[in-house]
Amino acid sequence: MRVGFVGLGAMGMGMSRNLHRAGLLSAVWNRTAEKAQTLAAELGCKAPPTLEALAPDVDAVVVCVSADDDVLQVVTALAKGLRKGTLVIDCSTVGADTARKASTILQPSGVEFLDCPVSGGVEGAEKATLAIMVGGTPEAFAQAQPILNAMGKTVTHFGPTGSGQAAKATNQIMCAGIIECVAEAMAFARAQGLPLDKVVDTLGKGAGSSWYFVHRGPNMVRGAYPAGFKVRLHAKDLGICRDMAARFGVALPVVERMLGEYAELVSRGYGDEDISATFRLKEELFEPPGKAGAPRKDA
Ligand code: NAP
Repeated sequence: MRVGFVGLGAMGMGMSRNLHRAGLLSAVWNRTAEKAQTLAAELGCKAPPTLEALAPDVDAVVVCVSADDDVLQVVTALAKGLRKGTLVIDCSTVGADTARKASTILQPSGVEFLDCPVSGGVEGAEKATLAIMVGGTPEAFAQAQPILNAMGKTVTHFGPTGSGQAAKATNQIMCAGIIECVAEAMAFARAQGLPLDKVVDTLGKGAGSSWYFVHRGPNMVRGAYPAGFKVRLHAKDLGICRDMAARFGVALPVVERMLGEYAELVSRGYGDEDISATFRLKEELFEPPGKAGAPRKDA
């Protein structure tokens, strides 16, 4: 099977390397072409100049780009060149409606579409330990097995097109609540004068621990928030969750609160930092701006 990969960002770089390790990767494409050319030279695969040129030479294409319009643009361009029977596997996080639109765009060409959003962060992408949530036909899911198993460890078919994105939206709501909680607890610990590295080492093994606490708590200890998972991308996901909940007339409190906090971070120029940058706002609960450096109440 010859697989093309589209979107060599923080996630796509690791995922495409894992497809290469599995002997599946035949071509890569990225909007900023240098990234694709550099990776292709390193791995010895092709880097066609356009999506239309990549399409006819592959049996499947994995896409991992930023947001809804990006997926639709990529799929529309691919549709011009894909052969009947080719599979498009979209690992971006977008709305369930976008997944259904993408599937409809590809249908006339006899191309199957699977929505396959992933969870597990950049580390999971590099180590091929991603959780992959799949929506689409059982036949397409069966066909995609070697590709999905090369990139992830837990691969689950949830139902028809859009179901993978619905599962991912569920995950993003949990991530919002957890990162907020971790940031708030770490700001509290700091205000108590606790050594934050020991807090992460010890509480990381306790009942209140989580992936975010163990993997992103250290960012809060260092005060550095390299992406990781960018604030503006999680804000995009929470916008999707908000729209999906609104169809039931529901506004989810965790989603609304984190959208507010992310809007604040973006307005201060932190949109491209990892979501652990939420700690910046939580620290200010104890040390408001302008008073930084003032003795804490407990000091
Ligand atoms: P990223 O580092 O910002 O990379 C985005 C990629 O999409 C880049 O390769 C970019 O190309 C490409 N792109 C954006 N718009 C495009 C367009 N209109 N046409 C073609 N290519 C386009 O993002 P990421 O962190 O890899 O995330 C990718 C997807 O995975 C997102 O949907 C995100 O929500 C999801 N995700 C991320 C994480 C995480 O921890 N980072 C975890 C799970 C899921 P350029 O290089 O030219 O900019």
